[in-house]
Amino acid sequence: MRRTKILATLGPATDSETTLENLLLAGANVVRLNFSHGSAQDHIKRAELVRHCAEKHQLNVAILVDLQGPKIRIGRFENDSVKLKEGDTFVLDASDESIMGNEQGVSIAYPELPRDCKKGDILMLDDGRIQLRVESVDGLKLNCQVRVGGKLSNNKGINKQGGGLSAPALTDKDRADIKTASEIEADYVAVSFPKTGDDIREARELLEAAGSNAAIVAKIERAEAVIHSTLDDIIEASDAVMVARGDLGVEIGDAELVGTQKHIIRRANDLNRLVIVATQMMESMITSTMPTRAEVFDVANSVLDGADAVMLSAETATGEYPVEVVRAMSRICVGAEKNPMAQLTDHRMSRKFERTDEMIAMATMYTANHLGSVKAIICLTESGDTPKWMSRISSSLPIYGLTRRKPTQRKMALFKGVQALYFDSTAMESNQVNEAAIDFLKQRGAICSGDRVIYTKGTQMGLHGATNALMILQVP
Ligand code: PGA
Ligand code: MN
Repeated sequence: MRRTKILATLGPATDSETTLENLLLAGANVVRLNFSHGSAQDHIKRAELVRHCAEKHQLNVAILVDLQGPKIRIGRFENDSVKLKEGDTFVLDASDESIMGNEQGVSIAYPELPRDCKKGDILMLDDGRIQLRVESVDGLKLNCQVRVGGKLSNNKGINKQGGGLSAPALTDKDRADIKTASEIEADYVAVSFPKTGDDIREARELLEAAGSNAAIVAKIERAEAVIHSTLDDIIEASDAVMVARGDLGVEIGDAELVGTQKHIIRRANDLNRLVIVATQMMESMITSTMPTRAEVFDVANSVLDGADAVMLSAETATGEYPVEVVRAMSRICVGAEKNPMAQLTDHRMSRKFERTDEMIAMATMYTANHLGSVKAIICLTESGDTPKWMSRISSSLPIYGLTRRKPTQRKMALFKGVQALYFDSTAMESNQVNEAAIDFLKQRGAICSGDRVIYTKGTQMGLHGATNALMILQVP
């Protein structure tokens, strides 16, 4: 069993039903619909196909809707691209989106950019491949000098080194897309470029107003979001965070990224939130049948750092080997999980707790890791909270999250080490539940006669937050 979950972005490369089926069978636990591309209709169709394929193969798959957010882009060029040389002057013009660009300059669709910039600022285009230095601000025009040149083509993104763009996280398009996310019954919704926890709280209000119960993923991709107090505020406002290394790396610089990734993963686990590592994990497999050694280490190190999930972007959405890359990633995760570093921890050992259910989760993990010969953890859950707390603690034991709630089952698809299964304990006599749960897992081959297992539940069934019992049982 693989503990680390795989998030795969859907796109043209996964649109055939066979490819999608194979992608899910290869081990994609969560699929990402990237709302930066395609129409709402495209995403609705993809979501329907995902649900259909998951149902067909009895796979537990969650859907994540990734909102575009305020990604600032340049306009188009007369000839689709230009070549910029170091020292050239180049103008970014926010006065008129329809102007076609050339060697002298290009339009930008974000009128605030000139207001957010001053002389000396560095703008990074196309993920930093092209760098411009602001020489002067002239109304809605930014006069720049090329610092790093190269080919610049239509609609490339712009980031400001060090952050500081005032654009709010939720655009009008995002607000409309939140309604689509609700229609799709997305399990997770990702907010791009949040600056503070308020952006996440606002997204949650909008989702609730649209009738959605989706969990929220905060994409950490702005320099200001990783300042410690801000990071904690964002993490606490969300259910999960994504180390969005693409944009984040451009804003804070690649050298800062490694320490920052480890810090974000640690803080998310400490604050009982889920954490995803994203972008360029297996980039070379867009066109190659095998990953580079560096990519193998990157995925494995994310596992050792304590990520719940690792993400694939273009590798699956537009790559040549969408199924093979999921298989390769899965294999690497399983390999990394064998490392003792990934299995033991003193995480939260010195903490005090207030809640009974959280304490039961902690006691379970202490017991699991310290009592010999335990084979599995079985957890009856309504909201998924108890298995989430459990999964914050490293262990090599499988955690079976048994729930009668389908949305809870799908949310658990992202939790590391958790296998989510449908099991309706309210449909049986209360004195038969324990036996039935054990028998259910035995039938599935998850546990065998004689195994010692840890079992948790609420003595009052069907209630949120009611877990108050931990039992050590022997499978009959
Ligand atoms: P994106 O987010 O792929 O939507 O840009 C991830 C990242 O920035 O790394
Ligand atoms: Mn991004």
